[in-house]
Amino acid sequence: MAQADTAIWRNWAGNVTARPARQATPAGVDELSAAVRDAAEDGLKVKAVGAGHSFTAAAATDGLLIRPQLLAGIHRIDVPNSPQGSGGTPMAGTVTVGAGTPLKRMNTALAREGLSLTNMGDIMEQTVSGAVSTGTHGTGRDSGSIAMQLRGLELVTADGSVLSCSAQGTEEERAVFAAARIGLGALGVLSSLTFAVEPVFLLTAREEPMTLDRVTAEFDALCAENEHFEFYWFPHTGNCNTKRNNRSAGPPAPVGRVSGWFEDELLSNGVFQAVNVLGRAVPAVVPAIARLSSRALSARTYTDIPYKVFTSPRRVRFVEMEYALPREALVDALRELKAMIDRSRLRISFPVEVRTAPADDIPLSTAFGRDSAYIAVHMYRGTPYRAYFTEAERIFTAHGGRPHWGKVHTRDAAYLSEVYPRFAEFTALRDRLDPDRVFGNDYLRRVLGD
Ligand SMILES: Cc1cc2nc3c(=O)[nH]c(=O)nc-3n(C[C@H](O)[C@H](O)[C@H](O)COP(=O)(O)OP(=O)(O)OC[C@H]3O[C@@H](n4cnc5c(N)ncnc54)[C@H](O)[C@@H]3O)c2cc1C
Repeated sequence: MAQADTAIWRNWAGNVTARPARQATPAGVDELSAAVRDAAEDGLKVKAVGAGHSFTAAAATDGLLIRPQLLAGIHRIDVPNSPQGSGGTPMAGTVTVGAGTPLKRMNTALAREGLSLTNMGDIMEQTVSGAVSTGTHGTGRDSGSIAMQLRGLELVTADGSVLSCSAQGTEEERAVFAAARIGLGALGVLSSLTFAVEPVFLLTAREEPMTLDRVTAEFDALCAENEHFEFYWFPHTGNCNTKRNNRSAGPPAPVGRVSGWFEDELLSNGVFQAVNVLGRAVPAVVPAIARLSSRALSARTYTDIPYKVFTSPRRVRFVEMEYALPREALVDALRELKAMIDRSRLRISFPVEVRTAPADDIPLSTAFGRDSAYIAVHMYRGTPYRAYFTEAERIFTAHGGRPHWGKVHTRDAAYLSEVYPRFAEFTALRDRLDPDRVFGNDYLRRVLGD
């Protein structure tokens, strides 16, 4: 199961590479804990990787790289109880899956059973373990990140022992559960995860172009009036595309095959790829392209089950930085970002994405303790991005921003311990669970301090 393998590992964006000393593809928790124990005895560091969709080196290692493919599958589904009387809220059920299960596989399996997660991000290529470990989120007024939907987890720790944790266990199990929901791979290797699920529901999506002036003026109302509101602003223009998703009684009205292909494949991927290639080659044309791109997508409304509304294919490769700000800082930060781009020589062909999340209670969640707005900047792969990201990061950090753990940033433990009130609690738990830093790597040394 463990082989010496000098193959180079590369992430989705291609901006991180690593050469692990060996790789393993364990087929269950016993093989996983044996692989961790063997590596630790051989003095190797250990890192589990998901689908490699992080833009940071969070999953990089020169030790043992644990691959997710055989830790995948649906272990158990407990269907939700029926509502208590008419108008009652259905009790949440749960699904337990192998940690390496791709979100897509979990979503489709749940849909077959008439179930769904409550909220999710904009793609579903990630593994469940990778997604929760970095705090992957979508947008929501009342519902938070994927990790907030966790109800239990199984973790292989540095000595190979297996901890099953939930909010109901012993004091130690509760403490591990609380922190390991967003654990950065620092506390151990997740072997299985249990999520809350609910009866599948319909969401009506309304996508609508809007001016930046209007979105910023009405941002609070748009967030308050919609269960899921997000928008994309096109730099060099005053134009945005907005998307609001709200639960609906139906009937289903999915995106038509032809219009779906035209908008989601041709415009959002095919043509977008071509204009990015052009913009990379001739940066001077980017503002004109941005004006055209920002008008290409027209208003549309459709109604479908959650994962078909929340997620869409992202085939154009890019690098990304995303920060969570206190929600009330969003409009100022966005205006500062626009002013910075307008007075610079930067040419940005990718829209800036804005989403929200309610305050939560996970120690290393970007939304810990405060209602948050996320602001994400992207650059087409192969285009120099550091100048843009450096300036953007200066703005975001001035507002007390917290970087997405899986997206490009330059923050270190000194900064992060200031913006995360329970940072020391997390590092103390790590000291207990992994005193020898079996799960350490350069990224964790930077963000956690050693
Ligand atoms: C096209 C694209 C779209 C994206 N959209 C969103 C979005 O909408 N919202 C959002 O918040 N983010 C988004 N992201 C970021 C992405 O969701 C995160 O970076 C996520 O962590 C990637 O999951 P992965 O399975 O690829 O994990 P990886 O990137 O492979 O790993 C991430 C971390 O998880 C750890 N890990 C993986 N498996 C285990 C395990 N079994 N046990 C312990 N630790 C483990 C790794 O060591 C690493 O630290 C997007 C990224 C891309 C490329």
